Amino acid sequence: MDDNLNFDTLAVRSGTLRSEFNEHSEALYLTSSFCFGSAAEAAERFKNSETGYTYARFTNPTVTMFQDRLAALEGGEACMATASGMAAIMSVVMSALQQGDHIVSSQSIFGSTLGMFSQIFSKFGITTTFVDPTDLDAWKNAVRPETKMFFLETPSNPLTEVADITAVSKIAKEAGALFVVDNCFCSPALQQPLKLGADVVMHSATKFLDGQGRVLGGALVGSKQFIMEKVFPFVRSAGPTLSAFNAWVLLKGMETLSLRVEKQSANALEIARWLEAHPSVKRVYYPGLASHPQHELAMRQQKAGGAIVSFEVKGDTPEEQRANAWRVIDNTRVCSITGNLGDTRTTITHPATTTHGRISPEARAAAGITEGLIRLAVGLEDPQDVRGDLARGLGQ
Ligand SMILES: *Cc1c(COP(=O)(O)O)cnc(C)c1O
Repeated sequence: MDDNLNFDTLAVRSGTLRSEFNEHSEALYLTSSFCFGSAAEAAERFKNSETGYTYARFTNPTVTMFQDRLAALEGGEACMATASGMAAIMSVVMSALQQGDHIVSSQSIFGSTLGMFSQIFSKFGITTTFVDPTDLDAWKNAVRPETKMFFLETPSNPLTEVADITAVSKIAKEAGALFVVDNCFCSPALQQPLKLGADVVMHSATKFLDGQGRVLGGALVGSKQFIMEKVFPFVRSAGPTLSAFNAWVLLKGMETLSLRVEKQSANALEIARWLEAHPSVKRVYYPGLASHPQHELAMRQQKAGGAIVSFEVKGDTPEEQRANAWRVIDNTRVCSITGNLGDTRTTITHPATTTHGRISPEARAAAGITEGLIRLAVGLEDPQDVRGDLARGLGQ
């Protein structure tokens, strides 16, 4: 499709492949394999497995449409879809690295990503040094001769720390390391890391790309060379493949991506401002607030603050903080108490006892995840109703 089209047009128009029937909406190809006219054609297709359709572990037209649309939205040359965000993490590391290689990663990353780096890849001789994502010297000082990958998630979960993608990309380049950015929290509607110097964008499509909490999915976007020569052979053989059905759901989700994410950001900003003025709230973490430590960077790097707002309720002891946080959560009637995010429905969680419950209390404290912390992933309800929902447990 025409490269000069704008984001919202690409979101609804790019990647469409029409069959002989010229259907208007994207077709869902539920088939595990594809037929050939002759033995010679089959042989040819298997030889050039990147170009034709053979078997759905690595090629399916509905998945191709999803890949082409996400590549267009991220401004990348190529995309490889995976079954989940974690399958994308596994695929990028298994494709790009080998025994003895070293990763420098932000310490503020998704819990399962942290687990993969510290417990799974280490078993295969790939080690990781974790750094404060906002400390550029820490990134520099962690580089070793065997460093082959930089990994960053911005804004971070749940404290919404914002790291400078362009500045980190320069350090990665000097180190000769592949720079991977998890763009799950912003989605390409708010932030396009490839344009800021990242080599690869990783997604959990489960979150904002679907946007309605229905299916799991993941993806890697980057240069054609990296995706086709490194990632494709891994996914083809190992099979962490996105299903055609999920790709079809995600294609529909992406059509409303910027509408949703921009409105969710506006709602989040309104709720964050209200929380900041509430006497029972100790601190609010939201990149769209002037009080956020990286507010200016966030406003330069992102189109809006995003949908995630975290806040800490007051309390004299950790026990009292937990009781106060749980009271807020338990008094909601509109918000869903669930770990997912990026949904049209506002979700509310207590990170210290859920998403970050399995790490040691010391590590949790070092990461700033206190007993009073609550994470909100703001949806599309009227923000006044979400405020009312929180007000009940916060008291007046
Ligand atoms: C959810 C999430 C992942 C993992 O994605 P799944 O689709 O659940 O496997 C990775 N990174 C971030 C930032 C996430 O929020």
